[in-house]
Amino acid sequence: MRRPLVAGNWKMHGSRQSVETLLEQLASQDWPDQVELMVAPPALFIGQCNERLQSTPIRVAGQTCATQAEPGALTGEISPAQLRDAGCEFVLVGHSERRALFGETDEVVCKKFAAALACGLRPVLCVGETQAERDAGQTTTVVARQLQAVLDTFGVGGLAMGVVAYEPVWAIGTGLTATPEQAQEVHAMIRARLAMLDDEQARKVQIVYGGSVKADNAEALFAMPDIDGGLVGGASLNADEFGAIARAA
Ligand code: PGA
Repeated sequence: MRRPLVAGNWKMHGSRQSVETLLEQLASQDWPDQVELMVAPPALFIGQCNERLQSTPIRVAGQTCATQAEPGALTGEISPAQLRDAGCEFVLVGHSERRALFGETDEVVCKKFAAALACGLRPVLCVGETQAERDAGQTTTVVARQLQAVLDTFGVGGLAMGVVAYEPVWAIGTGLTATPEQAQEVHAMIRARLAMLDDEQARKVQIVYGGSVKADNAEALFAMPDIDGGLVGGASLNADEFGAIARAA
């Protein structure tokens, strides 16, 4: 009943020229019908991506957004309303790089989630533990805490309007993928916690896995019952590999 989502997070990569090349290659891939597809380019390339990807099933996302929809004196920020106006359908919120490098707290991430929903965007709420937190046996506590602010405000039904991305920090950009079993364990824990609040809505929430997803590990990850696709960083910069990952979902 849940459609898989395969999303590419381009992070701060690309130039107009390299993005043009990547878009051409993406446009000529063979995309599976049953999978939702999305890429999150640097904001500068959102217009270019929307134009070029219109004829494909790939939708476009922001990598982050401001905490408010209204225009304001916030130099350098981009509001979710502006992302929507530029043609985006999704926005990532709370990516671990935003949390670790830009000090985004659970409260800030929740505000972004709220502002995105208010603008008709589907927020992709990123959660995940660091290696030290995993080693200390705190994975469940950390992930539950990261989800809580959004659940307190919106309930499971609100969360289901977006997407949850479980991205263990130790697996991001490191080549250290969580094993399918490790990832499934956390995905199942997330869904079980949601089910305690609202069983029906919990079954609808797309929970995607991120952290060194590649063409050669995607199939095993996506075969797990609670893994509903992937949020792909590095491998999404290669159209053939991103295509292969999408076809594995
Ligand atoms: P990675 O990044 O696939 O390069 O590990 C994933 C992410 O940060 O979303």
